[in-house]
Parts: sequence; C-alpha cells; structure tokens
Amino acid sequence: MAKTSEKCAFCGRDSRNVDMLINGVSGAICDECAQQAYEIVKEQIPASKSSFGLDQKELPKPADIKTFLDQYVIGQDDAKRYLAVSVYNHYKRLLQKVSTDDVEIEKSNIIMVGATGTGKTLLARTIAKLLHVPFSIVDATVLTEAGYVGEDIESILTRLLQAADYDVEAAQRGIVFIDEIDKIARKSDNPSITRDVSGEGVQQGLLKLLEGSIVNVPPQGGRKHPKQKMIAVDTKNILFVCGGAFDGIEKKITQRLNTRVVGYAANKEQATIDRNNLLKYITPTDLKSFGLIPEIIGRLPILTYLNPLDRKTLRSILTEPKNSIIKQYVKLFEMDGIKLAFDDSVFEYIVDKALEFKLGARGLRSIVEAVMMDAMYTMPSENKDELHVTLEYAKEKFEKSDVNRLQQMT
Ligand code: ADP
Repeated sequence: MAKTSEKCAFCGRDSRNVDMLINGVSGAICDECAQQAYEIVKEQIPASKSSFGLDQKELPKPADIKTFLDQYVIGQDDAKRYLAVSVYNHYKRLLQKVSTDDVEIEKSNIIMVGATGTGKTLLARTIAKLLHVPFSIVDATVLTEAGYVGEDIESILTRLLQAADYDVEAAQRGIVFIDEIDKIARKSDNPSITRDVSGEGVQQGLLKLLEGSIVNVPPQGGRKHPKQKMIAVDTKNILFVCGGAFDGIEKKITQRLNTRVVGYAANKEQATIDRNNLLKYITPTDLKSFGLIPEIIGRLPILTYLNPLDRKTLRSILTEPKNSIIKQYVKLFEMDGIKLAFDDSVFEYIVDKALEFKLGARGLRSIVEAVMMDAMYTMPSENKDELHVTLEYAKEKFEKSDVNRLQQMT
C-alpha cells in the first residue's frame, strides 16, 4: 500500500504549513502547488479540447455547415458558402493555440445584403442552432448614441448575455446578428432613413464592439444609469453577423458598374450584367457610398448578398425546408388526430398570392393562415379525422378572409 506522504513533492512544505496535501501513488502535492499546476496547464494547452467542447477534428467543415443550412434555407448558395467558411474560420480561431509564430487569425465578421424576407435572419439563426452557441438578434434601428433616447450600443450584448444565461464565458464566444445595419448609415446620400439614430455616432460605437474590446454591459439592457452593476464582456471572440436591405443600393451599384464599363470592352461586359439581381455585384465601395463608414466596413470583411426570391424559390420554401410552413400545419392538425393534405394547385395559388401582394416569403405564412383559419377553429371540436385542401377550398377561404389587411402590408 502506498505510504501517505507528509510533504509536498513540489514545494517541500509539510502538512503543518499547507491547508491540504493530496496524496498520490509515490508522493503528495499541496493545494497551492495543485492550483499553480492547473494555471500552467490552462495556459499551455488552452485549446486541445476547447472550452466549447469541440476539438478541430470535430468541427463541422464548411461543406457540412452548408448541408445543414440547406435543410432549412432554400437557395442563397453564395450567402451560405460565405457564412459557412467564416463561421468555420471563426471556430478555428477560437481553437488556435497560443501563437508561437505571431500569426494571429483575425475575426471574420460578416455582412449580408439582401431584400427583407429573403432569409438573412433565418441563415444566422440556423447556423447558431448547429453550433450550440449563444445567439441573439438585435435591431440596429433602436440603437442611439449615448445620451439620446433609445438603447445604448452596449445593449447589443445584453441580449447575448441573456441568451447565455449570464454565463459570460459562453457569451464571449457567441454570435450576434445585427439586423437592419443599413439604418445606421449616414443620412446624407441615403434615401431610406426613416428615423434619426445619429448615424455616424452609432457607427463609431458599434466599431468598438466589432473590433474587440471589453465592454461594460447593463445586465438588464435599456439605458445605463450610475447605480447599475455592469458586467464586463470581451467582444474579441464574438462573431458579428450583420444584415440589411440597403434599399436603393442598386443605384450605387449601377453607377459604379456604368463608370467602370465605359470604354474598352464596355459592350461585352454590360451585356453580361444581370440587371434583375444587381446585389450580386456588390462591393465594399457600394456600402461606403451608401453611408457606412470605412472603419465599419473594414471590420466586416466578409460581404455577401442574398438573391431575390423568385416563384420557384417561394414554391420550395412552402414545402421543402425541414420545418416548412406546410409541414408545421400538418403537424398542428396531426396533434388533433386530423390528417391534412393539400392539392399541388393550392401551393401554386398561395405562391401566386404572395407574389401578387408582393409579400415575399413572409407573406406565405399569412396566406396559409388565412386559408386554414376556419378549419383550425372548427375542426378540433368536430369528429373528422381528415382535411383535404383543394384549390376551390383554398380560394374560397382566402377570398373570405381579410384580404385588405394583407394589401395594407404591401
Ligand atoms: P430577412 O432577415 O432577410 O428579412 P428572414 O430570414 O426573417 O428575412 O425571413 C422571413 C421568413 O421567410 C423566414 O422565417 C422564413 O420562414 C422565410 N424565408 C425567407 N427566405 C427563405 C429561404 N431562402 N428559405 C426558407 N425560408 C425562407
């Protein structure tokens, strides 16, 4: 049997001079040396198994991330690829060991430009689901410079802290989706501003977060006040994904493309420009012309775009994603023991209406809701176990519904 030792094998102090001695097979260690040893281990091998429980081999590869996104988001292949790569790199960055060669991987914050309802939020939300990291969405329109009515920039991190159950370590490697980033563009030159949020001042504030700094966050959000206890959050490893519609940016893109193609080979180049989807030619210069300050653009190095949703995409969105609107309704009815089925022509009709009212993907849900409302109200108390939705049924219910309400949304 191993002899219990009276002395720490590391510092040599005996049991009377330390709080605790832990005995091993052939020696002992005191509490202080054990503590120091732990600190050394933490410092030397910080990422062999990272604090978020993944090692590099287990990290989902960009292609895996894209495949996962494909289950929930239709189309938008470019945005998915950019997002997948930058998230992958973000995690590699978190896993990197203390640098011995001075090569430090920089953050790859992303900016996604695309009309509203094309899937920007959905992409960010879906990726957070895959990565099991705290995720929060904030709307840039509520942000104001300190001292103005509205929310302080720091409140962006309040939501993240809340999503992480106030686990600061977890929040510090989370993902924040900042929606409507275009609304804090400088007002000049920008036709779409509806609300004064003191554009440039807010951008300066945001810059601090994007760059990576220690920020004092009000735990309950809202405005800071002197007596509030703040939580210090380091934004160095937080991934920021920004999204915005940038209404009117197509004009800037056209202007740039037109100036560029004047002269030699102009005709050839102009002929290949897809006028229906100018966003795919977007560059950081266009964001600058729109009113984002160059420093912010520099901190959002990954720029990608979303395609407008055409008829075919809308049709797919209705039924194909893993939790598509139609699948959700089928499930809702199934819970009441009712088998719900649709004729294909109903789907075409729903897409027609979404296009007619210019409601995009968001409108699909309102239209399905309008068609199904009566049945959802009456059927749970009836004794039927089946509902077959035909085109006639859908038309009748939709026309009876408050169509005007949908028209007002356009
Ligand atoms: P954005 O953030 O671009 O304004 P969202 O991501 O909030 O738009 O999209 C609104 C809704 O429309 C989503 O919840 C989703 O149901 C649907 N949607 C939009 N685009 C897509 C898409 N490409 N694939 C699947 N669903 C989509």
